[in-house]
Amino acid sequence: MPEAFSAVDVIRTKRDGAPLSPQQIDWVIDAYTRGVVAEEQMSALAMAVFWRGLSADELARWTAAMIASGERLDLSAVTRPTVDKHSTGGVGDKITLPLAPLVAACGAAVPQLSGRGLGHTGGTLDKLESIPGWRASVTNAQFIAQLNAVGAVVCAAGDGLAPADKKLYALRDVTATVESIPLIASSIMSKKIAEGSSALVLDVKVGSGAFMKSVEDARTLAQTMVGLGTAHGVRTIALLTDMSTPLGLTAGNALEVAESVEVLAGGGPADVVELTLALAREMLGAAGISVDPADALRDGRAMDAWRAMIAAQGGDPSAPLPVARERQVINAPSSGVLTRLDALAVGVAAWRLGAGRARKEDPVSAGAGVVLHAKPGDPVRAGEPLLELHADDPALFAAAEAALADAWDIGDVGSDAASSAAVTLVLDRLS
Ligand code: URA
Repeated sequence: MPEAFSAVDVIRTKRDGAPLSPQQIDWVIDAYTRGVVAEEQMSALAMAVFWRGLSADELARWTAAMIASGERLDLSAVTRPTVDKHSTGGVGDKITLPLAPLVAACGAAVPQLSGRGLGHTGGTLDKLESIPGWRASVTNAQFIAQLNAVGAVVCAAGDGLAPADKKLYALRDVTATVESIPLIASSIMSKKIAEGSSALVLDVKVGSGAFMKSVEDARTLAQTMVGLGTAHGVRTIALLTDMSTPLGLTAGNALEVAESVEVLAGGGPADVVELTLALAREMLGAAGISVDPADALRDGRAMDAWRAMIAAQGGDPSAPLPVARERQVINAPSSGVLTRLDALAVGVAAWRLGAGRARKEDPVSAGAGVVLHAKPGDPVRAGEPLLELHADDPALFAAAEAALADAWDIGDVGSDAASSAAVTLVLDRLS
């Protein structure tokens, strides 16, 4: 059968700033998924969208076409209310690890299809894979059974879910077309809507370690995604949260698992606890469950759910976590108050130490990463540890140290910079 449109005409339409028709959008996404629209043609279209944008109507259709490129999971056999969370990605963002079991312990089901990390932000699956025995892939039947029995599944998305996005995201990554609000919004929301959850809480990151560097851009992205979710019948809420400095005190796979387990045990860094509880309250509210998640952290129910969630996917929650072979400490050069610790620099350092990958097929080191000894607003003393680098290969320390060369500022005690250094974590809420 002849094709309904020509890719060149579709590209030219968008290149010249005219709107794409609903039929053109349906066709181009479908034809790209089928391999009829070539990679170089989709590259040109992505760049045209990058510059020209998509109207609200075009974006809604584009997202619907991406969802329709694959299956939409049927969660009707899940007996608990379903609610998911998605973070736009950041440094030290291990929140899914304590959050999913916490929300499960409060009575909801969290179906979380996650990804592996690329570049300076870590991937949730990479973190969990540092737990001996844990498997990222589950069958559809296991997925539903685990949601009913445990209340949380964190696993790899199958190939059938929004396949158009799988191809397009990989293409955008190598054609400098990732940082486009309509392309990011449609990419994230097509996967999240196809996942079949009734409610969704978005954690939209703002700052040096995030895609969105300004609050205005993050708010536009959040509003766009909330609009798309709501239009598809998914109750969607977004929090805008700080990513100017890493979350918690660790960036790295096993290091972040260990920190998450501390949170589940009732301890852990204050910012990780604060954000876990803020997102849990939003998720439970969206699922229609009115209990205080702080109780489930305190009384051990969240920890029980974590252990059950890990064991259900073959992991041993009691096994020791991998540890990197080598360490190097960076000491504070002067005394005062830490007024800045840059998220992007710490993320790049952790990546160079082996915690992240440059290409999709690269392996990651489970033990590598960065441990912070202070956060913005904390006092520091000259000669005492500020950061600790962990790697299997000591030859990697120099490149990580280079990434951290301009990563922090230390101010005088009592100065304006020192008194305003502590970060406000939750910046806004949209629904
Ligand atoms: N995460 C996604 O899944 N897609 C994007 O475009 C950006 C972040």
